Amino acid sequence: MTSTRLQKLRSQFDALRIDAFLVTFLPHLRYLSGFSGSNGLGIVTANAAFFLTDGRYADQVKDEVKGWKVFITPGSLFEEAHRRKLVQAGMRIGFDGNTLIFDQVLQLKKMFPKVKFLPKADTVEKIAAVKDEGEIDRITRAVGITDRVFFEILPFIKPGMSELDLAAEISYRQRKHGAEADAFETIVASGERGALPHGRATAKKIRHGELVTLDFGCVYEGYHSDLTRTVAVGKPKAEAKKIYAIVLDAQTKAIETSSSGMKAKVLDAVAREHIRKHGYDKFFRHSLGHGLGLQIHEPPRISVLSTATLETGNVITIEPGIYLPGFGGVRIEDDVVIRNGGCEILNRSPKELLVL
Ligand code: ZN
Ligand code: ZN
Repeated sequence: MTSTRLQKLRSQFDALRIDAFLVTFLPHLRYLSGFSGSNGLGIVTANAAFFLTDGRYADQVKDEVKGWKVFITPGSLFEEAHRRKLVQAGMRIGFDGNTLIFDQVLQLKKMFPKVKFLPKADTVEKIAAVKDEGEIDRITRAVGITDRVFFEILPFIKPGMSELDLAAEISYRQRKHGAEADAFETIVASGERGALPHGRATAKKIRHGELVTLDFGCVYEGYHSDLTRTVAVGKPKAEAKKIYAIVLDAQTKAIETSSSGMKAKVLDAVAREHIRKHGYDKFFRHSLGHGLGLQIHEPPRISVLSTATLETGNVITIEPGIYLPGFGGVRIEDDVVIRNGGCEILNRSPKELLVL
């Protein structure tokens, strides 16, 4: 599995005009090597793969990292690479410019003055955007935990409960059902706060008659889930019902049309156009969705500006919303796998407006 991933990376070397790739960002390292620890360095050349870490992981690498030559060192991983001569003068080495720390670049340049280090953004992400079935299984497990928690917390949501209290209950239950962590800080945005697309839970108490947007997810074996549902606590106002129906139709249309070969920006436009027809487009100001995997946000981006084309095996979110300042908001989000001729929806949480 990881050897196919290394082959995919190596097959990019010519186009990127590099002889090797330096991997420091942990999700990339995990994707390429299987390593789930917190300190590691990978150097992938045309015919070798070197993995460096410290003594805490000496046992773990034996289980996780196969097909790489492993070096354990108590000191700096860069210094160890230098001491072992893993990198030679004259080499052109690519690295992920989005994640390598500036100070580390300076260290590398000083340590290897005859090597050219070249930032190559999104190299690993583009490979990782197409998931294999093992990865899709893990995402499905993460989604299953999140769906179960959504179902379980519905009876807890009552007027007088704070957003923080609800967020804590979500977090606790995800762990209880086998999640390693929350995928991101849980969003609970009630009433007027629902107009904030990223309203993290606060001490605000949920009141009768409000909409509550819950956006949360978890991590299972490194892979993320991401779910949003908006529920009504008590009878919703007419405009709340109206915008809910528009968002749900926009989301359903986007899901029904998504398929491999489709341009991501065309998919974004399907949902946006529906919302525009109803006059609410200026209240939908974020992108339609994002790729999901070892990171919570990864390619392909589903936005107006995206240049991506959807491929079989992409796992993406579809999450349109309408946010009315001073009133509140609605967002509905599912995780889907792009397949030939369509997509597979991973979430099972109900989508009709639930009135609690
Ligand atoms: Zn989300
Ligand atoms: Zn999302």
